[in-house]
Amino acid sequence: MSEPAGKLPGRDAAYRLVRSRRRTLSLEIRPDGEVIVRAPARLPMREVERFLVSRGEWLDRHLSAPRPAPRLVSAQEQQAMRREAALLMPPLVARYAAALGARPARVRITSAQKRLGSCNAKGVVCISWRLMASPGDIVAYVAAHEAAHLKHLNHSPAFYRALSGLMPDHARRAKALRRLPHVVPEPIQKTGGS
Ligand SMILES: [Zn+2]
Repeated sequence: MSEPAGKLPGRDAAYRLVRSRRRTLSLEIRPDGEVIVRAPARLPMREVERFLVSRGEWLDRHLSAPRPAPRLVSAQEQQAMRREAALLMPPLVARYAAALGARPARVRITSAQKRLGSCNAKGVVCISWRLMASPGDIVAYVAAHEAAHLKHLNHSPAFYRALSGLMPDHARRAKALRRLPHVVPEPIQKTGGS
């Protein structure tokens, strides 16, 4: 049984409610962007709404606008970005970490395409050189996010409290980050020939 679309609480997007004999609520975003909420047949609407509010962050993450076309960078630009990352990121991550009473074991510069920053249980923070194509507030956001992972290796409420302490507007920056183009090396030009 599918009901006409309702409005997602607090946003300019609709969802489709599908009620059935299931016992739990679930949320799905179709590849075309349609949001589907599956709910038990007689669950009151306010429970459905409460569920949607509780999934706000997940929705933010998945409903972001499609990314623009990738930004191509030459081999030289790539090298310059690597150098810049190696100079800038270790002290920046260390500074945010220090504010939380933590310290990275090491800050490594990687080539990761999608995870511009990551952190492991050994305290090694990895930052992709591709992050250097981002505006400064985004670079700082990734540094603060990974620094907060040195204290909390998850995305728990405690992690977000630590991150908010470092950067009160982190959610805005995270959203902006998801809208930046991917940074992709230019295809290597064949040299020589006629
Ligand atoms: Zn994270």
